[in-house]
Amino acid sequence: MRVGGPIGRLHTPVTVSEAIELLRQTTAAGEPLLVMGGGSNLVVGDTGWDGTVIKMASSEFDIDGELVTAAAGVEWDHLVQATVAEGLAGVEALSGIPGLVGGTPVQNVGAFGTVTSDVLESLSVYDRQTGALERWTPDRCGFGSHRQSVFKHSDRWAVVDVTYRLRRSNQSRPIEYAELAAKLGIEVGGTAAPADVRHAVLALRRGRGMVLDPRDHDTWSVGSFFINPVLAEVPELAGECPRYPDVKGTKLPAAWLIEHAGFPRGYGRDWGSGTVALSSRHALAVTNRGAATTSEIMKFAAHIREGVEARFGIRLGPECDLVNCSF
Ligand SMILES: Cc1cc2nc3c(=O)[nH]c(=O)nc-3n(C[C@H](O)[C@H](O)[C@H](O)COP(=O)(O)OP(=O)(O)OC[C@H]3O[C@@H](n4cnc5c(N)ncnc54)[C@H](O)[C@@H]3O)c2cc1C
Repeated sequence: MRVGGPIGRLHTPVTVSEAIELLRQTTAAGEPLLVMGGGSNLVVGDTGWDGTVIKMASSEFDIDGELVTAAAGVEWDHLVQATVAEGLAGVEALSGIPGLVGGTPVQNVGAFGTVTSDVLESLSVYDRQTGALERWTPDRCGFGSHRQSVFKHSDRWAVVDVTYRLRRSNQSRPIEYAELAAKLGIEVGGTAAPADVRHAVLALRRGRGMVLDPRDHDTWSVGSFFINPVLAEVPELAGECPRYPDVKGTKLPAAWLIEHAGFPRGYGRDWGSGTVALSSRHALAVTNRGAATTSEIMKFAAHIREGVEARFGIRLGPECDLVNCSF
């Protein structure tokens, strides 16, 4: 979001072993630690963060048959592009998502009906509490409910590398997302060449301002700022809202709630200082129009949350990680 402030110390380990050594040293020294990938899902307070940041920069990856192992510092979309070029299917629908490989299990990144846990084989995690480096299978990661995992809201584990099991195939995973199927000219549930799916996904994402472009303020965001709420019971006030099953209850689209609470796309240009607004192409993206501060972003987010709560009785929370700031 291009906001934040100064940090104490920055390390950018370029190999997995260097990353592990730095994690060991910083943990042993008892320093506050922020493990960071691309920073695409972070909002940091204006006063910054007085601690150590380890920004994963390890860029090795290996394709062995249908198994793809990538260090935490590999750029996610670079990996997707490489697997599609190698004739592997499985992650094509996750094209264009910013950030690094190590960040993907944290909120079990997903788009267009695919989540990374669908293809996750195993991952290496450094446990800062025990000092052990462990190989985990997906069942330990706490996936299930929308965008959740044991890694989210915890700084105990650092993801060091991830292995995905893809398929050598010229056909994608079945496309269950109607808009993507329509773009590809196929039926929902049909398949297409992974390269065509990647192409279609990038086009759809660009249309929503969801592919990073420094010239385009609609992309100066964290993607979805608010998380789709999962409720045990949907309040009557939200009776008209579309709903989807989730292991923990019913999931409602936060974008629908925001738009129907009176906050259309682009809302905010005439509110406050006008430097923070909803994206003109997606109501879930809070965007920096050029000179925003975190404090303005927090005020704006609180304003949207209050409006949605007043209209539907549902309190929205953040999907992004708020570091040294809150609303
Ligand atoms: C324009 C835009 C579009 C987006 N679209 C999508 C989308 O379609 N689907 C989706 O799911 N997300 C989306 N996002 C959100 C974001 O891209 C993902 O959450 C991504 O996985 C974040 O990766 P990162 O490397 O940038 O993580 P960061 O922002 O650096 O970190 C995010 C969190 O993960 C933790 N973390 C990062 N790396 C590690 C590690 N190696 N070990 C342990 N913890 C770690 C951090 O401490 C922090 O809590 C979008 C963001 C933007 C800006």
